[in-house]
Amino acid sequence: MYFTTDTATSPNAKIPEGDLKDKWSNFKDQARLISPGNRQKYHILVVGTGLSGASAAASLAELGYQVSTFCFQDSPRRAHSVAAQGGVNAMKNYKNDGDSIYRMFYDTLKGGDFRAREANVYRLAECSSHLIDQAVAQGVPFAREYSGYLANRSFGGVQVSRTFYARGQTGQQLLLGAYQAMMRQVHLGKIRSYTRHEMLDLVTENGLARGIIVRNMDTGAISRHAADAVVLATGGFGKIFYLSTLAMGCNGSAIWRAHKKGAWAACPSWTQIHPTCLPQAGNYQSKLTLMSESLRNDGRIWVPRNKNENRKAVEVPEEDRDYYLERKYPSYGNLAPRDIASRAAKERIDAGYGVGPLKNAVYLDFKDAISKHGKGTIVKRYGNLFNMYEKITGINAYEQPMMISPAAHFSMGGLWVDYELSTNIPGLYAIGEANFSDHGANRLGANSLLQACVDGYYILPQTLPQFLAQQGKANQPDSDSEAFFLAEQQVRSRLEGLCAINGNKTADHFHRELGKILYDKCGLSRSAKGLTAAIEAIRMLKKTFYEELKIPSVLNGINEELEKAGRVADYLEISELMCVDALSREESCGAHFREEYQTPDGEARRNDSEYSYISCWKNSGDIPVLIREPLHFEFTKPTERSYK
Ligand SMILES: Cc1cc2nc3c(=O)[nH]c(=O)nc-3n(C[C@H](O)[C@H](O)[C@H](O)COP(=O)(O)OP(=O)(O)OC[C@H]3O[C@@H](n4cnc5c(N)ncnc54)[C@H](O)[C@@H]3O)c2cc1C
Repeated sequence: MYFTTDTATSPNAKIPEGDLKDKWSNFKDQARLISPGNRQKYHILVVGTGLSGASAAASLAELGYQVSTFCFQDSPRRAHSVAAQGGVNAMKNYKNDGDSIYRMFYDTLKGGDFRAREANVYRLAECSSHLIDQAVAQGVPFAREYSGYLANRSFGGVQVSRTFYARGQTGQQLLLGAYQAMMRQVHLGKIRSYTRHEMLDLVTENGLARGIIVRNMDTGAISRHAADAVVLATGGFGKIFYLSTLAMGCNGSAIWRAHKKGAWAACPSWTQIHPTCLPQAGNYQSKLTLMSESLRNDGRIWVPRNKNENRKAVEVPEEDRDYYLERKYPSYGNLAPRDIASRAAKERIDAGYGVGPLKNAVYLDFKDAISKHGKGTIVKRYGNLFNMYEKITGINAYEQPMMISPAAHFSMGGLWVDYELSTNIPGLYAIGEANFSDHGANRLGANSLLQACVDGYYILPQTLPQFLAQQGKANQPDSDSEAFFLAEQQVRSRLEGLCAINGNKTADHFHRELGKILYDKCGLSRSAKGLTAAIEAIRMLKKTFYEELKIPSVLNGINEELEKAGRVADYLEISELMCVDALSREESCGAHFREEYQTPDGEARRNDSEYSYISCWKNSGDIPVLIREPLHFEFTKPTERSYK
């Protein structure tokens, strides 16, 4: 038995009353506030300073709260949000192409295969247009049309243009905006910024979040931080697959530590595998590079019709090319959503039509776009992406098609949060990619930067004060309390335990092995047989990890191997829960494709009567406990998700 079910607990998502379009306003109208003069009495810890954390910290400090921020990089500017290339979605309807808040809401809900809350998704669409205005005011250099209006383009799973972009650096430019806003508060003394500090545990007392334990990554010093509320903005854990589009440092440790202290994990197995990445080139690679989805606006995806095609791509005539996305999904074509495009690529590669030295890629071809629009237009639209491609592969993609392949990219799962972004531990909030929130079982491209910013700038600053107002200032958290003392002791003994193993294998070795198991058995397609085999393999790997891990050097001072080992130790536990989650969901939905549940033509078969819920996992110390949050569709009718 891999899990038990708790039917007595029913999660309260705290969705406000009223019509869909009034819910957020109703919440704000009735929310409890803290008066300006009292705000400075409250101290909030924000762990993570990517787009979600930096925007939350800046907004809370601007309101008057005392904030401390933590990140493991040497500057908040280096958070992984900088990697985002393609764009950020917003409902502006500048193109007059039929966009509306409702359409954006519906696209997102359908894109996530009707496995998200209607109210959350609607609020995301509703807040999207404010974000663009705010970012422009901050100086984010979005691309513009000749007229001066902001330009936009399409991303997968939609039939309108609502993606705003700053060349291929949208995440970086948005983060610079949030960082400036945050640093302004640092200079005003409202934010204390701890860089190169890694959160290693959450401290709870009487069921409330009271603070965190962190390690200074330069000195090894462990310190305790108490506060009125804790916000986790620690990003996604897609790096669990080892080969992924995420930076090496991205990790799941903060949310996993919170999970072990009682926070529910929601749908941890819902991972997005992105269709347009550079294929793996060898065994010693530690990262895969994303080529932005925006390329699918103009690039056409194909594989040769013949399995043993030996001609160069440019020599393969039209009749010998299979534009399989256009063939299978004529209405969306190359802009089919990511889960569908990735699965279709895998299907062609597995069937023996893959291209490239390892036969693990498909072509992304700009020949037609260049002849239609001219090379200059393509350079303007994607020049830096083409340069990056050439730098890495040595191939000039204006002359030959790119080669792309699916790779792990984004965690739709994360900590469970209610409408107010509160976890089930009062005083603990999760924002950005760290929570499960708005994307359902598949995130639409360019909705994640949006969610990170909307959570941080608009939602959390309105919802968190509810908790502060309710708590008041009685019963102050104290970092000298027994709970802090015990949490610090546990952190120290965990680190000492890892160092004491003194085996002969690096943390990377175990991470790479784990990644292979997960990608193979809990990646693009899953089955009961594969998932149970994966659970057993992960358990074996975990056993050898604790017998054979080698951490050179000592506890004090800089020790990257120790940092990695701590993260891999957590990954070994998260991965098992991912497999259990995938095993428990006997349906296919979005990125969760169970081989047993597919239509005769190989599409995902959802089971709304039994699985229309969010899986919330409670840590029981032993076997995970499943709690279900039923999804209610009051304003839409879940339909079969078709892009044909
Ligand atoms: C290559 C790539 C391209 C992408 N392109 C797009 C795109 O075009 N459009 C889009 O919408 N989305 C895109 N995404 C997704 C999007 O970038 C992310 O989901 C989003 O930026 C996450 O923001 P965040 O604030 O949640 O986390 P992050 O930006 O990842 O920040 C996490 C923060 O947490 C800190 N942290 C983590 N663990 C700890 C710890 N234990 N202790 C202390 N600090 C910790 C880090 O230091 C960092 O400051 C892309 C993602 C990738 C990987």
